[in-house]
Amino acid sequence: MTVDLHNYVATVENFPEEGVSFRDLSPLMGNGVAYRQTIDAIANFAKDLKIDLIAGPESRGFIVGSPLAYALNIGFVPARKGGKLPRAAVSASYSLEYGGENVLEIHKDAIKPGQRVLIVDDLLATGGTINATREIIAELGGVVAGVAFIIELKDLQGREKIMRAGDVPFLSLMTY
Ligand code: IMP
Repeated sequence: MTVDLHNYVATVENFPEEGVSFRDLSPLMGNGVAYRQTIDAIANFAKDLKIDLIAGPESRGFIVGSPLAYALNIGFVPARKGGKLPRAAVSASYSLEYGGENVLEIHKDAIKPGQRVLIVDDLLATGGTINATREIIAELGGVVAGVAFIIELKDLQGREKIMRAGDVPFLSLMTY
């Protein structure tokens, strides 16, 4: 059985602030068929990319990345918010879509030089989160082998910003 994933996206108007249409993916994650179909589609994209690891930013990147790593029989690297990792880490800061700054960190020993990493997240907006993750992976000597999202918000041109940092295989399962 195949389902239309659009039916599992709840659009919330004026959240988290006036004028924003927030795309809530919890219905998709809460449905076994839709969730599995999502992970299978990204796994299919990943199969020719020769990846060694999946990386995902906190926190919804974990919900996409962990089952994917399990399905592909490879490891998962969390990019955590600042100050949460207990050992030596590399960090990068970025601007948030609705204002303010955030920091992401990855343990220094999580990625070995030359390892090929697929970055995943639930949603691509301005691209700040992914470019920060990408910056850290590059600093550790890893190779970003692809990026994949459940949703891409077209108007914010995140894809163009990611590609400006170097061309990379790209997947989004739905665009809004
Ligand atoms: P970016 O850094 O501007 O690309 O924002 C993407 C990050 O913000 C992702 O980690 C998303 O989880 C979160 N995000 C931004 N907008 C939305 C939305 O409409 N729905 C769900 N998550 C969002």
